[in-house]
Amino acid sequence: MSIALPIEVTVAGRNAFDRRVAATTATRLTAAHIETVQVNVGLRCNLACHHCHVESSPARKEEMDWPTMQLVLTATEKTNARTIDITGGAPEMNPNFRRLVVAASTSGFSVIVRTNLTIMLEPGYEDLPSFFASQNVHLIASLPCYLETNVDKQRGTHVYRESVEVIRRLNGVGYGTRDELPLDLVYNPGGATLPPDQHKLEEAYRRELDQRFGIRFNRLLTITNIAIGRYLHDLARQGKAEQYQQLLRDSFNPATVEGLMCRHQLHVGWDGTMYDCDFNFALGLPASAPGRHVRDFDPAMFVTRRIATGEHCFACTAGCGSSCGGALV
Ligand code: SF4
Ligand code: SF4
Repeated sequence: MSIALPIEVTVAGRNAFDRRVAATTATRLTAAHIETVQVNVGLRCNLACHHCHVESSPARKEEMDWPTMQLVLTATEKTNARTIDITGGAPEMNPNFRRLVVAASTSGFSVIVRTNLTIMLEPGYEDLPSFFASQNVHLIASLPCYLETNVDKQRGTHVYRESVEVIRRLNGVGYGTRDELPLDLVYNPGGATLPPDQHKLEEAYRRELDQRFGIRFNRLLTITNIAIGRYLHDLARQGKAEQYQQLLRDSFNPATVEGLMCRHQLHVGWDGTMYDCDFNFALGLPASAPGRHVRDFDPAMFVTRRIATGEHCFACTAGCGSSCGGALV
């Protein structure tokens, strides 16, 4: 079933989001600089979560090849970015994943890996905690609640218990306890609401996970659900798609615009196409800079580009704002 976004998506600069940004900041949304290069190495995943905006599952075949990974490393060298942020799917399932991590780390980049945790219990992946520790990888892991029923409802049966087991193993190799091995957890709402205050929720996570299991993490990142992919299908099935989008529009916070992640990163999709962010990748909305493949990357052109915006962008500016790094204000 195909469900259209409620309102236009455009790079022409005259959609509702652009008008809102221009009305409050007297400017259009443009890139600022590149702090991070985020790379989606493939859509295959061992899970198939209800809220997945890239619609990953075990059946997906799309994955980045090694020559494209090399182009990403070359492009990153041309920027001031010091961080490569690897995502998916379950990025660990790409056969060249470890090669990319080692190459990025050897080149002196900080490496972030976005993991669903449970992959580390699958055959052939059990040694990942020690591999990650050996490369000083910064792990950002999905755990959308500290309560079992809420996690399993979003992500599948047994995912909560498996995630706790993997966090225990990560703690065992130093994640969450040693400064050089950060483990951040990601919360996103189970319903059609905005996330609660990030700091207060982090305190609750820390207390609950410690009391229940004695497990540790560093920071909690709250992320607002964006009404695309499977999450939009879910909302539409419940008849809540327009109501949720209106909540996002009504919650527009101009203080979030400066820190929007699209202004500070380059996102490269699995086939080498460049995007402003993960969400534009999911929507098939490439960056508006000339030369859309990473082999043609020109940092001077890329940092002055207009951001391709649409109705979906209201999720990033609602309330305290939202990004791959959590709340913005
Ligand atoms: S949300 Fe993450 S873990 Fe879940 S299906 Fe999508 S990529 Fe996989
Ligand atoms: S979805 Fe968010 S990060 Fe992506 S272009 Fe829109 S405002 Fe920027």
